[in-house]
Amino acid sequence: MINLKNIRKKIEGNIEENKSSKNYNTWKVGGNAEYFYEPKNVKELKIFLKLAKDTEITFLGNGSNVLIRDKGIKGCVICLKNTFNNYEVNKNNEFSFEAGLSCMKIAQITSKRNYTGLEFLCGIPGSLGGALAMNAGCYGGNIWEKVIKVNLINKDGKIIEKDKKDFSIGYRNVNLNENNFFISASFLLQENPLNNSLDTIKNYLKDRRSKQPTGLPSCGSVFKNPDNAHAANLIDSLGLKGYKIGGAYISKKHANFIISDNGTKSSDIESLIIFVQKKVYEEKKIFLETEVKFIGSKL
Ligand SMILES: Cc1cc2nc3c(=O)[nH]c(=O)nc-3n(C[C@H](O)[C@H](O)[C@H](O)COP(=O)(O)OP(=O)(O)OC[C@H]3O[C@@H](n4cnc5c(N)ncnc54)[C@H](O)[C@@H]3O)c2cc1C
Repeated sequence: MINLKNIRKKIEGNIEENKSSKNYNTWKVGGNAEYFYEPKNVKELKIFLKLAKDTEITFLGNGSNVLIRDKGIKGCVICLKNTFNNYEVNKNNEFSFEAGLSCMKIAQITSKRNYTGLEFLCGIPGSLGGALAMNAGCYGGNIWEKVIKVNLINKDGKIIEKDKKDFSIGYRNVNLNENNFFISASFLLQENPLNNSLDTIKNYLKDRRSKQPTGLPSCGSVFKNPDNAHAANLIDSLGLKGYKIGGAYISKKHANFIISDNGTKSSDIESLIIFVQKKVYEEKKIFLETEVKFIGSKL
């Protein structure tokens, strides 16, 4: 239980009770967060975590890879996207970014300075913290490839520095201790002799627009690609494009995307996910593991 009155005396960041999560995830669905906090800076976040030590904590970036259930989120959601936006360009081609910075901004910052290696981040609508947690990637790159070290904060408010080698990194997966959260990361990049990083970004964005239903509420790819197959092709081959449950439907443009209409409930989306898993398993004997993370308890 959080003592809001006491906490507000000690911190300046925005803290609210019973906050709707709909504007904090790209499907625009989900119930309320019991508490919602946007820390002003690391110093304040440390103080908050010490004061809220018996509270369940969920970190959220841009909410572009989560399904927040209708019943909402117990404890406190800590959202970094509006405040942890600082970065530094250090000597030796090293860039340090705070975890709330958007992937798009990081691609732009590095490309405008003519450094190559993170252009692929441009179309991923997440924050750095979420991208590290997911090992986000596309166009042959993924975020951990260029990481040298990260700073984490644990649930007791202690800062921990770790090297890339301290993590086991896989496809959309990193072995992060559940009581540790990313607050910043450093990357080692190369200067681009071809001077074409901004053109690369333009091409990636154009390609994405032609293949994905960008602009509609989704979480990107719902399912991970199984070994030697594409989730989208498997779903498409069963004729499921356009299939709808409540307000949630499978995109006609990309079968691994589920779109939410106005008024869609999280339970519509979750039912559709389970339906697709069942169908693909029945017909193809392949289990589609979800890429999207579920937050909050089931009804
Ligand atoms: C249109 C669209 C296209 C997409 N395309 C791609 C793509 O090409 N490639 C790809 O990989 N993904 C893609 N995604 C998915 C998503 O954008 C990425 O997974 C992104 O990195 C998630 O970042 P986020 O900040 O939104 O994370 P969130 O959705 O906020 O969180 C995702 C997970 O990370 C955890 N988390 C968030 N912040 C932190 C933190 N600071 N410390 C520890 N854990 C944290 C959350 O608790 C949650 O478990 C796409 C999504 C959309 C909507």
